[in-house]
Amino acid sequence: MSMTTLIPAPTAARDKTRTDTMRAAVVTTAGEPLVVADVPIPTPGRHQALVKVLASGVCHTDLHAARGDWPVAPKGDLIPGHEGYGEVIALGEGVTTLEVGQKVGNAWLWSACGTCEYCRTGWETLCPEQQNGGYSVDGSFGEYMLVDERFAARIPDGADPIEVAPILCAGVTVYKGLKMTGVRPGEWVTISGIGGLGHIAVQYARAMGMRVAAVDVDDAKLELARAHGAEVTVNASQQDPGEAIQAATGGTHGVLVTAVHPKAFDQALQVVRRGATIVFNGLPPGTFDADIFDIVLRAITIRGSIVGSRQDMVEALDFYARGQIHPTVSVESLDDINDIFERMERGKIDGRIVMTY
Ligand code: NAD
Ligand code: ZN
Ligand code: ZN
Repeated sequence: MSMTTLIPAPTAARDKTRTDTMRAAVVTTAGEPLVVADVPIPTPGRHQALVKVLASGVCHTDLHAARGDWPVAPKGDLIPGHEGYGEVIALGEGVTTLEVGQKVGNAWLWSACGTCEYCRTGWETLCPEQQNGGYSVDGSFGEYMLVDERFAARIPDGADPIEVAPILCAGVTVYKGLKMTGVRPGEWVTISGIGGLGHIAVQYARAMGMRVAAVDVDDAKLELARAHGAEVTVNASQQDPGEAIQAATGGTHGVLVTAVHPKAFDQALQVVRRGATIVFNGLPPGTFDADIFDIVLRAITIRGSIVGSRQDMVEALDFYARGQIHPTVSVESLDDINDIFERMERGKIDGRIVMTY
């Protein structure tokens, strides 16, 4: 699709003091560079608010979306981004729980139906009717975005706009993933992949009382893991993670895999002790190899985990508000998006990049 297929938003709910267009990074064709262009400012519908975006983290999921890596395609002419922090500037019809001036974030779980079995049982992240920020609906790689009042993250007072942005996806995802490992205080967890998600996972794990072993294929990432409290670090391109982590910890009680290479998923089985739970957060296209006998006889649990519920978001933001989590962030501009993606693909980003507008 080309930029000319973008339909201008209706003018009714617009604030006439603003111009009608905004700068945004748009995926026009999967696998092609994003186009940074002027596009219409969206109009908030029922239960929606228009948010002026002040900062947005860049998640590897945005790169998967731009590349068309996954079996479910994103919307056409997509504006990615689901770690957007901003200020509510206009309210759509029926909004009662947000006000103009309030600081909010968008999220991957942009909305859900609220009535299905999953929504009713605290598993709104599995709702078949859910909308995903920066995937099925436009996200935060633009100067304005829409949020649904029922799902927008409420940003705690005093939050640093740049530091808090990565909590909106990376933070809530790893916090939920760590809970799903069932690892208790004093026990060991392996964090595999110390990128945007992983370096924050090290911090949540420490804050939750876990002991951390970290695996990556890049020494700079492992240094970051140690700086955030990992006791054991293994460079999987130089050392066998199974041998190294078994020797150092006796096998960890859980694993959180945030890596973007399928090999890390195979290796997760080698670093654990009996009875462990392995949680997959990373989403590289592909499959992994696992030995059935080994999984059964050692009673290993392997489970996927996708972002977090609104309650997980409240809890994840609360860890941040209490000063327990400090994402390593560097600030860049929206115009750098293609270069950011290129560095992300090569694993050359320390922590998270947050774009400002
Ligand atoms: P990132 O690019 O910031 O980090 C990826 C890290 O993986 C890098 O540090 C890289 O060096 C490391 N890595 C690459 N190959 C490895 C290997 N063989 N062993 C160990 N580490 C290796 O990416 P990110 O933003 O942290 O996202 C990571 C993955 O998680 C992506 O696939 C993303 O789509 C996914 N994700 C999932 C959820 C979810 O809810 N499940 C949420 C957000 C992101
Ligand atoms: Zn994400
Ligand atoms: Zn539902």
